[in-house]
Amino acid sequence: MKIEVKRDLCISAASCVAIAPGVYQLDDEGKVYIVDPKGGTDEQILEGAKSCPVQCIIIKDDTGKQIYPEPAA
Ligand code: SF4
Repeated sequence: MKIEVKRDLCISAASCVAIAPGVYQLDDEGKVYIVDPKGGTDEQILEGAKSCPVQCIIIKDDTGKQIYPEPAA
């Protein structure tokens, strides 16, 4: 899976960090960044993204297809 973060949207809720601290962390500005894209299970990575109240974590599969947020049909 590939992880992208829209740092400008991050509001420092840190729920992603609580779920997958090995993957998501906050920097000095309180904005999310990826510590290690392999620092958690796929489930943790996805649940962390889903926990974000402003959906600033984008998850794609290895082919580049977006998994979360689910693309509009
Ligand atoms: S849950 Fe979203 S808003 Fe909160 S720290 Fe993580 S990326 Fe930022």
